[in-house]
Amino acid sequence: MENQVVVRFAPSPTGYLHIGGARTAIFNWLYARQNKGKFILRIEDTDAQRSTKDSIQGIVDGLTWLGLGWDEGPNFQSAYIKDHLAAAQQLVDAGHAYKCFCTKEDLDRKREAAVAAKQTYLYDGTCRELTPDQVAENEAKDLSFTIRLKVPRDGGSLVFEDAVYGRVEKQFRDLEDFIIVRSNGNPLYILSNAVDDIRDRVTHIIRGQDGLANTPKQILLYQALGAPLPVFAHMSLTLDPKKAKISKRRHGELVAIHYYRAQGFLPWALVNFLVLLGWATTDSREIFSEEELIAAFALNGISRANSVFNIRPEDTRFSTDPKALNINAHYLRTMDIEDLADQVKPFLEAEGLWHLAYEGEGRRKFLDTLDLLRERYHLLTDFATLGRAWFSDDFEMDAKAWEKHLASHPELHAPLAGLGEKILAMDDYTIKTVEALLRDMLKTLGVKPGILINAVRMALTGQPKGPDFMKAMIVMGQQRVGERLRKLPAQF
Ligand code: GLU
Repeated sequence: MENQVVVRFAPSPTGYLHIGGARTAIFNWLYARQNKGKFILRIEDTDAQRSTKDSIQGIVDGLTWLGLGWDEGPNFQSAYIKDHLAAAQQLVDAGHAYKCFCTKEDLDRKREAAVAAKQTYLYDGTCRELTPDQVAENEAKDLSFTIRLKVPRDGGSLVFEDAVYGRVEKQFRDLEDFIIVRSNGNPLYILSNAVDDIRDRVTHIIRGQDGLANTPKQILLYQALGAPLPVFAHMSLTLDPKKAKISKRRHGELVAIHYYRAQGFLPWALVNFLVLLGWATTDSREIFSEEELIAAFALNGISRANSVFNIRPEDTRFSTDPKALNINAHYLRTMDIEDLADQVKPFLEAEGLWHLAYEGEGRRKFLDTLDLLRERYHLLTDFATLGRAWFSDDFEMDAKAWEKHLASHPELHAPLAGLGEKILAMDDYTIKTVEALLRDMLKTLGVKPGILINAVRMALTGQPKGPDFMKAMIVMGQQRVGERLRKLPAQF
């Protein structure tokens, strides 16, 4: 297809997939889907020392989990080194690049002199003017060389229009003839990256802002290779609340996609949250289905201003941005209940809380439980942690609340056990009948409803707060409610 949009996500596999990388992948994926284009996954693994298999697997797993399917790849940059070198040779042959025989010592000396004179060091072009004979002579001597691209020396500048940052201008005098092949014969990353994009006919380069500095040089490479220019769209940075750049080094697990997965994020909720870091519609909408987001996405909605990812390392539960939690909670509450059950299952299994009964007749009750709990929860893990009492009799009591709502009310212990007996003996266990029982009890005891409700809730769930009380009594079920109340006095 002649005018097909082609984008790529090109991570260097030097660590796990983190939220910044995922955000870049999301923007590319969206743009491809919106334009019925092609989304390529390219692993930029030419730095063999820093690239790891685990990292490649982590990237592939992370993208797959997020649902960001690619149309081609993973392609490995290291498989194309021959292409990169052939392009360099083509540039030398055409007179756009040249062999530079300057030794490291020569260059170091010139750099030091520039530093001493408080000048910016740029390569002075010594070898640019070598005659063919001089080059042949050096080659005959087997002198090692790098290959440098010729930057125009006509006093002009390179100008391009970034889809996010707008007009960018770089004076040629501020660019040295930069190296594209090292003296050991390896291509430089800047060359490999451009050659791969040219070969794959990438039409839109959507990447992190750190790529902006390389862009003028890459455009010079495109021009020298006679390739049509792609659209460049650089995405602003994501900062932490202290305005430091989000990074694996600084924030560790807190920015790892696998950590969000382990904590019980729904993949689409995370995509929905991440896309809002540095992109917005004019009406600042926050919740998008996949189709809606594909339709709404636009490169000109990407913000130049850096976005803040409000992680809170001091939070002991889960240190992520409250907005991320709220978006996840929104999806937990609104998703199809059967899908929720599928998502919750592995988390319950991991805690030994999954029962075969949930597959069979108990399924309905299980779904009712999830439906009740999801009103209050933010993460899939919450079902197995905060919700433990709903799936097991072996659950912890919140010590402070236990003291406040139960231990300090000894007058309630025997009546609560009595209530349990009565519940177990009921023929018709419904909101109506249970309410009637509770009302009777309030009258006899002469306590405020809140005192009784808190005590019962504590006895049943170990927690001072929870879902709608009457619904909870019914969903938890006659047997479990009755038994827990009946056995209560034995716990003091
Ligand atoms: N491999 C680069 C990185 O991981 C991406 C560069 C690009 O997208 O052009 O930062």
